[in-house]
Order: sequence, then structure tokens, then C-alpha cells
Amino acid sequence: MPVLGQGTWRMAEDPARRASEIEALRLGLDLGLTLIDTAEMYGQGATEELVAEAIAGRRDEVFLVSKVWPSNASRRGTIEACERSLRRLQTDRLDLYLLHWPGEHELGGTIEAFLELVETGKISHWGVSNFGRRELADVVSRPGGDDVHVDQMPYSASRRGIEAELLPWCRDRGIVVMAYSPLDQGRLLRHPAVTTIAERHGVSPATVGTAWVLLQDGVNVIPKAGTPEHVRATRAAVDFVFEQLDLELLDEAFLA
Ligand code: NAP
Repeated sequence: MPVLGQGTWRMAEDPARRASEIEALRLGLDLGLTLIDTAEMYGQGATEELVAEAIAGRRDEVFLVSKVWPSNASRRGTIEACERSLRRLQTDRLDLYLLHWPGEHELGGTIEAFLELVETGKISHWGVSNFGRRELADVVSRPGGDDVHVDQMPYSASRRGIEAELLPWCRDRGIVVMAYSPLDQGRLLRHPAVTTIAERHGVSPATVGTAWVLLQDGVNVIPKAGTPEHVRATRAAVDFVFEQLDLELLDEAFLA
């Protein structure tokens, strides 16, 4: 699974931004950001349709992730939701399919549906999102549950809550943590600690925020960039090298 990908939440909401969002996703693929994260919830399906347009003719380059909305995640409902996502995405398979957050349906039924989707080739892997350590332990204890591949969680230099329990627990078991909102939905980019580091190195604050997550073992990361310029700043994170001074500044700002 690629360590650096592209988020899509809030894409396809503003027609004036559509062309830029598609161009950004395509440029991301060109630059090697081949994991694309979406969900049936985003834009009530419109975001998946935008992703389909962006990846048209390039499906094999993409590690495609989508999510079932918890209200749909019954045994039967999960299968049907996946089939709708496949139609909107104009593909015959997802590389990873996640339960978006813990919901009201019996977890065992959702897991059975995921296993059936793997069996029929409609998904390659499955996982969860917004599951804490205890909730994830419950998943793993269910029949077939130890196949869980990913827990997608909020994680950034300024939001490190998962480091106490969930992240070490996942590392021990080889479950990947996929860090969402790595720029804290843009808030991190205005923080003086981050802008100071960015200025010192002559890069975008988004490069600094993304690079910090890339330093962490067992984690991959899906910043959302809605313009080609923003995607270039994301990609620059791969080559960014922190000085000890920078990491201390971030710890002082966010761990105090
Ligand atoms: P994020 O990636 O932390 O931040 C996105 C924001 O940062 C956008 O406003 C974006 O603006 C801005 N940005 C990105 N690069 C920039 C740059 N170089 N300069 C200035 N601004 C820049 O937030 P996120 O969208 O919440 O999280 C990323 C992805 O994680 C989502 O898109 C989604 O796929 C996933 N996610 C999952 C869950 C879940 O419950 N599983 C929840 C939230 C998010 P532009 O749009 O203008 O580029």
C-alpha cells in the first residue's frame, strides 16, 4: 500500500473547483501519490463520481479506497453499498474497503460481508475507520476479524491522541494506521511552529505537516489537496528532511 496518498473529502461540492480537483488528482498520480481515498458519504456519491473521472483510463495505477456509511453496513447492505460505489467509481474492484465509523449494525455481519466481497473479488482488503483500541480489539476477536488491514484515524503533528494506545497496538499486529486530516483540515498550516519551519526550509507548511506524519512507523497518510499547486507541496514531503530543532519545536508546540 502506498505510504502517501490523496484525500477527497469536500471534492465535488463546488462546481467552480471541479476542474482543478480533477487536475490535482491526475497530477497526484503522475507524481506517485497513487492511493486515492474516498467514501460513499462524500458529496453523497458525487465525490466517487469525480474520482472516476479523474482516474479514467488509469485504474491500474491507483490503490483505490472507499468506505461504507455505517447506516448501510448490515451484512446485505454492505454488499449493496459496495456495488453502488463500484458503479459510481466505474470500476470492478476496490483495493481497500472500510467501515467509516462504528455504527448501529452488528459488526459480525459487516465483517462477513467484507469477507464475501474479498471472496468474490470486489475488494482486495478491508478495514475500519475511527475505531479506538478497544473497538479494534473487538474486530480482531471476531471470526475472520484478524484480516483487518487498516484503521483510518485522525493523526497529525497537532493531534497525537492515537500514540498512547492505538498506534503501538496496531504496530504490534501489523495493522496499518492510515492518518487522515494530517494538516488538521488546514488549521495546522497557520500554526507559528509550522510556518517557522516551513520558512526556514523554503517549503510550504503543508509539506512540513505531511512530512511529519511520514516519519511515523506503521502509518500512511492521505492529505487532501484540491489544486495542482497543493499536490506539489504534498509530494515535496517525501524529500523533506527535518532538523532536530524542527522536531523539538513541533513537540514544544503540541505536546506541552
Ligand atoms: P487535511 O488533509 O488535513 O487538510 C485539507 C485542507 O488543507 C484543505 O482545506 C486543503 O485545501 C488544505 N491544503 C492542502 N494542501 C495545501 C497547501 N499546500 N496549501 C494550503 N492549503 C492546503 O484534511 P482532510 O481533508 O480532513 O483529511 C484528508 C483526507 O482524509 C480527506 O480528504 C478524506 O479522504 C480523509 N478523511 C477521512 C475521515 C474519516 O472519518 N475516515 C475524516 C476526515 C478525512 P485545498 O482543498 O484548497 O487544497
